[in-house]
Amino acid sequence: MPFHSEDPSSDLSYIINELGEDREHYFNAMAPPIMQTSNFAFHKVEDLRKAFEDEMSGYLYSRGLNPTTDILRKKLAAMDGAEDCLVFANGAAAIFAGVLPFVKAGDHIISVRHPYTWAQRTFDVILPRFGVSTTYVDGYTIEEFEKALQPNTTFIYLESPNSWTYAIQPIQEVAALAKKHGIITLIDNSYCTPLYQKPFELGIDLCMQTATKYIGGHSDTLGGVLTGTHKHMKKIFDSEYLNIGSGIAPFNAWLLIRGLRTLPARIERITRSTQQVLSYLKQHPKVDKILFPLDETFPQYSLAKQQMKGACGLLTFTVKEGTMERITNLCESLQHILMAVSWGGHESLILPKCAGIRPSHFDPNKVEHQYIRLYVGLEEPGYLIQDLEQALDKI
Ligand SMILES: *Cc1c(COP(=O)(O)O)cnc(C)c1O
Repeated sequence: MPFHSEDPSSDLSYIINELGEDREHYFNAMAPPIMQTSNFAFHKVEDLRKAFEDEMSGYLYSRGLNPTTDILRKKLAAMDGAEDCLVFANGAAAIFAGVLPFVKAGDHIISVRHPYTWAQRTFDVILPRFGVSTTYVDGYTIEEFEKALQPNTTFIYLESPNSWTYAIQPIQEVAALAKKHGIITLIDNSYCTPLYQKPFELGIDLCMQTATKYIGGHSDTLGGVLTGTHKHMKKIFDSEYLNIGSGIAPFNAWLLIRGLRTLPARIERITRSTQQVLSYLKQHPKVDKILFPLDETFPQYSLAKQQMKGACGLLTFTVKEGTMERITNLCESLQHILMAVSWGGHESLILPKCAGIRPSHFDPNKVEHQYIRLYVGLEEPGYLIQDLEQALDKI
C-alpha cells in the first residue's frame, strides 16, 4: 500500500481519494455505490455459521457491517492513524458506546468538567443508576487528574478543546498517567478533526469525533466516529454497537465519504476566514472578550500550540455591557449569519449562551452567560464581516 509515503499530505490525499475503494467491483464508477440493503445472502451453511460466530468478520446484516460504511471506516481509521474504526448514527451514540464497555458497577470515571451535553448526561443521569460514579476536573494540569484518581478509576474522558471555551487538557501527560494505572482514555476530538490533532500520537486509547460537524460539512447528515485498536473496536462492536443499533445508515455513510473528499480544502479555507473575522472582532470597540485557542491572548495558548496543528471555525466573544437585550439584539440583527446550534457546515452560525438560560437566571456579572459563539463557515470573509458590522452598529 502506498501508505508509508514520506509526505503526510499525499498520505491524506491517498486516504481521501483511494483507500477502501474497489472501483473495479462497481463498474469503475468514480463514486462508490450506496449499498442500501438490510441483509446479505449466503450459499454455504458453513459461511453463515462463521458470520454468526463473528459478525465483525463479514457481511451478515446491516445493523453490523455494510460495504458502504466500511469504505468510510477504513478512511477514518487511517486519518486518525488507528487500527480500526466504527461509525455511528451520530456523535452522542459514539460517546455512549465508547464509554459503556469500559465501566462496570463500582467503577469510577474522571471527566473533564462540562463535557459535551450528552457525555455529561451519560455520567450524571445514566451511569449512576448502574453504580458508576464520575469526578469532574477542570483539567488544565496533570495534578488535577492525579488528585482525582481512585483505586477504582477505570476511565478518563477528555474533550480538548471543547466547543465553547476551548479549554484544553495536557493530553500526553494524562495518557501517560492513565497507562501507568491501566486506565482507558477517550478524547472527543471533534473540534480539531484528525487534521489538526492526532490523539493516538499522544498516547490516547480511543478517539471520538462527531462527523456531523466538519466531516459531513454541509449540515445535511449526522454521524459519529470512534477509532482505536481492533481489539477495542471489536469489544464495542460485539456489545454496544450491535445491541443499541446505533450504526450509521449506508446513505449517511456515503454522504460522509463525500464530505471527506473536501475536508482539507474546507478546513484550509475556514482557517483563513476565521483569522480575518477574528482580527475584525478584536479591533471592534463594542467587542469585549474573545476566546480562540490559537490566539496569543488565550489562557492556554502555549499548550494549545504544542498539541494542536491548527484551530478554526469556532470562536466565542462577548460585547461590552453584555446585557441580555444587547446580546439578543445583536443576534437577531444578523442578516446572513444564521442563529442555530451545531457548526462545521458551509454556513456561518451564531449561538448566544443566554438562549439556554431563563431570563430571570441571567446574571450579567457572569461572563459565561454573555458568551456568543460564532462559527465561521465557507462564505467570503468580507460578507460575514459586513453582516457583523451592521449588527454591531445596531447595539
Ligand atoms: C456535536 C458534538 C457532539 C455530538 O455529536 P452529534 O453528532 O450531534 O451527536 C459531540 N461532541 C462535540 C464537541 C460536539 O460539538
